[in-house]
Amino acid sequence: MERKVIDFINKVLPIPKIEDSKNVLCVLPHPDDGEIGAGGTIAKLKSKGAKVSYVLVTDGGAGIRGKSREETREIRKKEQESAAKILNVDEIEWLGYPDGGNYDIENVKKDLSRYFERIKPDLVMTVDPFLPYECHPDHKICGLAVAQTLLLNFNDSVPMAFFFTAYPNQFVCVEKYRDKKFEAISAHKSQISPEIVGIYKKYFEVKGEAYGKKVGCKYAEGFKVLLPMMLHAFEETLWV
Ligand SMILES: [Zn+2]
Repeated sequence: MERKVIDFINKVLPIPKIEDSKNVLCVLPHPDDGEIGAGGTIAKLKSKGAKVSYVLVTDGGAGIRGKSREETREIRKKEQESAAKILNVDEIEWLGYPDGGNYDIENVKKDLSRYFERIKPDLVMTVDPFLPYECHPDHKICGLAVAQTLLLNFNDSVPMAFFFTAYPNQFVCVEKYRDKKFEAISAHKSQISPEIVGIYKKYFEVKGEAYGKKVGCKYAEGFKVLLPMMLHAFEETLWV
């Protein structure tokens, strides 16, 4: 892509800064995605006085081997509530779709429209449905449902910030919040053993430091932040 064209786009359509947001809605496929993908940023936004709400698309019921869906659902709901409390999240709503992708994206979009109308977010945070090789149906549905709802049904000037992204274009310094992030991740005990938390810590340390270097700090989380119009007939989106 021509550098000149990208520079022009960045000038005429500046991407809003995540940290300037005051009312953030996180739309999440499963309990634990918010904490793993954006826990430091969520904690930081809260400490800066923003309102942060969660909408959980699925019930997480497929997440524990050897336990029934009903039992799993209850355990994961409690874990998500504890994790959200650690990050100071204001409210959690559950859409209750069955974990595993066996539902219609159109219904998710209708539900999301209702929440968008009520909450009127100035930023929506979710998983990147365009992550190469992403195969999990809940992640594809969740990210796409957000993008399509913002583009077609709600307010096409509200930006979205994708995490779990291969194409970050914005980095949030969260050095002061990394302990909170890992405390919140650790609340998902049924999913993440202390050993796995240790591996995550190392992984995020290497990545967080590399991302931090790009913006002059020690530790950062990366996002692809886009305006909804960039998700339709917009040839430069990969490079903005
Ligand atoms: Zn997930």
